[in-house]
Amino acid sequence: MLELNQMEKRTNLAGLTLDELACFMQQAGQPSYRARQVFSGLHERRLQSFAEMTDLPKAFRERLSETATASTLTVESRYLSEDGTRRYLMKTHDNLPVETVFIPEERRDTICFSSQSGCPLQCTFCLTAQLGLLRSLTAGEIVEQIIIVLNDVYGGGEKPPHGTNLVGMGAGEPFLNFESLMKALEIMSDPHGLFIVPHRVTVSTAGIVPRIRELATIATRPHLAISLAAPTDELRNELMPINKKWPLEDLLAACKEFEQTLKPGELFTFEYVMLDGVNDSDEHARQLANLLNRHALRAKVNLIPHNPADPLPYLPSPSYRVEQFKSILESKGVRAFIRRPRGRDIFAACGQLAARRETNNIQSIPQSIAT
Ligand code: SAH
Repeated sequence: MLELNQMEKRTNLAGLTLDELACFMQQAGQPSYRARQVFSGLHERRLQSFAEMTDLPKAFRERLSETATASTLTVESRYLSEDGTRRYLMKTHDNLPVETVFIPEERRDTICFSSQSGCPLQCTFCLTAQLGLLRSLTAGEIVEQIIIVLNDVYGGGEKPPHGTNLVGMGAGEPFLNFESLMKALEIMSDPHGLFIVPHRVTVSTAGIVPRIRELATIATRPHLAISLAAPTDELRNELMPINKKWPLEDLLAACKEFEQTLKPGELFTFEYVMLDGVNDSDEHARQLANLLNRHALRAKVNLIPHNPADPLPYLPSPSYRVEQFKSILESKGVRAFIRRPRGRDIFAACGQLAARRETNNIQSIPQSIAT
């Protein structure tokens, strides 16, 4: 149950729920209030070392550091986009890359976290795929990403002025690391800690059908987004090979089941990356609208212009194409929105997380097609 660092064999306390922390303290022969104290130190005050928890006796802090750790990730570099987006390239204790993106927004800022180092899926339009799967992240490593970003952006322990939204849309497939993901969300939702409730969280999946069904059974679940990228099995098999395992009919049947759990006014989201000349024709738009209408889903479609990066073989659809695609969807009663790319210049946009240590030269894209 306790989360052990394979290499250093110390328990990462940032990955324990309050109940687990109570168990840990009991085993360490400590009074029960210690759990609350340490949990608050880690998640409410966002301290990343026991040394800073000066409300704990010094001897105890020293003893604690022998068997446990308060943080395991280190920030290797930080990139700042001209649109204000920040990309953090972190590394795990065993030297694997973890990337997190901070996206400032008018109403409420968003943090995009990673669920795995690399990714095992082989979506042809996504740069992360090129890393392959390095490993799944632990719950502690997921929580730490948020702590590090919040401290950097707002100052150590300072509350975000308007709260924070989280999106599980960074590197990796969250639903192939379901247990750690759900545990991290539970830890982060605690009112005695970060207090980021599931309602503020959206998790995106490439379509791991059994986990969509499982999510539907969880009362305190986050919002769901599904990466579609194509309206037919033929094209989706090509762009997202996971479709061969769970084709569109299976995926949309699971969505239908998930739909039963939507709250009044809640929609779920389909993400549709727009690849120039590949999946962006009028015919594709009609096929997509028909597919969603056939299943009568309470969903909206987010159109994401492709974020280009060498060596991905695609260009973003030109903006008039994206607009036209949107109008066709709308004319058939499907709600559609165009997402503005953020942080493209620093490899921070959707599908660009691949532990790049440089920035992106978007000048090499002809102006007419750079949306
Ligand atoms: N594995 C999960 C979460 C990560 S991807 C999933 O597939 O949903 C997050 C989103 O970025 C997905 O909707 C994906 O379709 C999109 N995406 C991937 N590569 C992209 C690219 N190069 N440009 C634009 N969006 C991309």
